[in-house]
Amino acid sequence: MPYGVAYKKDNGFHYNDHAYKVANLFHSFYNQGVHNYRELERLTGIHHRTIPNLLKNELYIGYRKYDQKRSPEKRIKPDGRQADKRKVKREPDEIIRIKVIDDPIIDERVFREVQEIMANKRRDFHRKRSAKGERFLYSGFLRCGYCGEKIYSTSGRRNHKKDYYYCRTKNYTFQKKNGPSSCASKYIPKKMIEHTITSFIAKTLTKKDYLRKIIECACSKSKHKDLKAEARSIGNALKNLKKKKAKILDLYSDDLFTREELGKKVDELNDEVERLKVQQSKVQRSLQSADGDAVEKNIRLIVSTVAEFEHWTPKRKRAFLRSQMPEFSVTNKGITGVTFNFCKLGNRKGKDSWHLPA
Ligand SMILES: [Zn+2]
Repeated sequence: MPYGVAYKKDNGFHYNDHAYKVANLFHSFYNQGVHNYRELERLTGIHHRTIPNLLKNELYIGYRKYDQKRSPEKRIKPDGRQADKRKVKREPDEIIRIKVIDDPIIDERVFREVQEIMANKRRDFHRKRSAKGERFLYSGFLRCGYCGEKIYSTSGRRNHKKDYYYCRTKNYTFQKKNGPSSCASKYIPKKMIEHTITSFIAKTLTKKDYLRKIIECACSKSKHKDLKAEARSIGNALKNLKKKKAKILDLYSDDLFTREELGKKVDELNDEVERLKVQQSKVQRSLQSADGDAVEKNIRLIVSTVAEFEHWTPKRKRAFLRSQMPEFSVTNKGITGVTFNFCKLGNRKGKDSWHLPA
């Protein structure tokens, strides 16, 4: 039962002694315009995390909502008896509302408006979050070029000149937990680092030779690995069959089975060898083509995608970054390394990697 509501067999659903607190909650939210849940907790004594659920509950306007039903699938317990059917959500047009309390504590019109305010609040929250992402284009995609920690951003509010990226070890909360920072990095002006990275993406990622290097490396790491493993296991299976054949011939010469039996076993083994050899040549062919085709295809795709990167909107740039999840290691002198999700480049500490061509 939600807060302030009780149920008894003889008098059904009814409000209990706590219901006035819920009425206060709606009053503060709607009439006084207090929309902060922690502030509402202070005013009503109701925990801030249950508040949004209470504000959505139709029992306060007297309706019980049946938005779940038993799933039609039958379930059988391990002992063979029928178990309760699982509960599933009803489709919007299947939801049933029944008036269960005649004298509700909340006016229905107020309740509907509260729902609208809450929906706007959610939209606003998401908008603010993405706006922050657009102000700091590369936040979430940077690492400290000195110590390898994450890079945080700090906003100068209205003064964009005071927007900085900085190493996490310099963060006040981080230092309180982990002690003073020993990292040599400095605050990096937002404009400077964003310009460097944007032109890096637009220029370097459109150089075909550079991309070829990245992607060949990625191929050898993922696809090649699988194919090579398959080729190895086929090779081993063939070796085992050869050993088996030798053993059968030994047993025959010891008179352990007849000539017919020997012929049958040898035929079986030869069939198996034939099958494996066909598979082997297939794998070898795809190993060869994985080098050429896939690399060229990927290069064409990336070159055509990022050629106009510099001119994209911040939103589109972030969408591209999220799809590729690169990581740039930076200092206030510029980029020291890059990691792409399809390969590693640059000289990140503690990882085997490549040096960026200057
Ligand atoms: Zn650092």
